[in-house]
Amino acid sequence: MKLSLISLIFAVSSFSVFAETPVIRTKPVTLLFAGDTTLDSTPGALIKRGIDPFKSFSPLFAAADIRLLNLECVVATTGQAEPKHYTFRAAPQVLQTLKRHADGVTLANNHSGDYGREAFAQMLSLLAKNNIAQAGGGMNLSEAHTPWMAERNGIRIAILSYNEFMPRSYEAGTYTPGVAWSEDEQVVDDIRRARSIYQADIVLPFMHWGWENEPKANLRQRQLAKKMIDAGADAVIGGHPHVTQDLEIYKGKPIIYSVGNFIMKETDNDQQRVGWVLRLNIDKTGVYGFDTHVARINQDGMPSYDKKTPSPCWTNTWPQERMCLAGDALTNESNGMRAVFR
Ligand SMILES: [Zn+2]
Repeated sequence: MKLSLISLIFAVSSFSVFAETPVIRTKPVTLLFAGDTTLDSTPGALIKRGIDPFKSFSPLFAAADIRLLNLECVVATTGQAEPKHYTFRAAPQVLQTLKRHADGVTLANNHSGDYGREAFAQMLSLLAKNNIAQAGGGMNLSEAHTPWMAERNGIRIAILSYNEFMPRSYEAGTYTPGVAWSEDEQVVDDIRRARSIYQADIVLPFMHWGWENEPKANLRQRQLAKKMIDAGADAVIGGHPHVTQDLEIYKGKPIIYSVGNFIMKETDNDQQRVGWVLRLNIDKTGVYGFDTHVARINQDGMPSYDKKTPSPCWTNTWPQERMCLAGDALTNESNGMRAVFR
């Protein structure tokens, strides 16, 4: 009798412990990524006149926990233009505008080295002075492959950035500044090290890849994206083709091959003047959803937020992405937000 009373007390107390234990879920984090952003020529001149290219997206950016974009130019006062068709150099004062909206930039692309290594090094110090983080660049090869660790709500997110579009001469050397090149084995190793060395909960590689103007990702992009997810990436996000591309969900993880342009004067067709601002929903276990927000880019290269055109969204209870209206739809259905399907 005594024994069974003890068992009863134990059973009741275990039950109450079980019943009262709340489900611990860390507060999620939203990460926003805007595509190719080139702040020289007309956008640079407009910024100089006090016009903010981010204006129509400003509330969306302000509401996100981590904001980043691909900075597709060098920001410097020094250097000589490389012998290539397009070279982009923006004045340091653009960073005042940039830092109001972005926490960091990805630098591994085919324009950050347009004015040589000295200008690239100057940009690294200007970014640091303005408190803008960066991924994919460094004063040497090892720094370029070091993740930017962004921590919000107790979630540690490793952000990596790689270029694989010519010229490879912009790559960092053992002792020289430059960008991280997308060499498969190195990328896989960096992703693993982000977890083992940098204690990342979440690992996000941002890729500069693919063929320009192609609406579908190529075989190379598809193979490498899957390799990165197999190595532990929680999502793969890309840009460079100047247009948006198709998406895939692989092993429950999203691959957004190209978000297209964001601020870009040099556009040659209508498709290049439509980009997505991508928003990822992240908790400690991974990326559990995303939505995209359409940017319409005018002839001056300036984006405006188009809330009327549906664009891809996904939540991890869906096997595939769907089309949502950005203004009022989100990936997290439990938040009462609705998806609009086409
Ligand atoms: Zn590019």
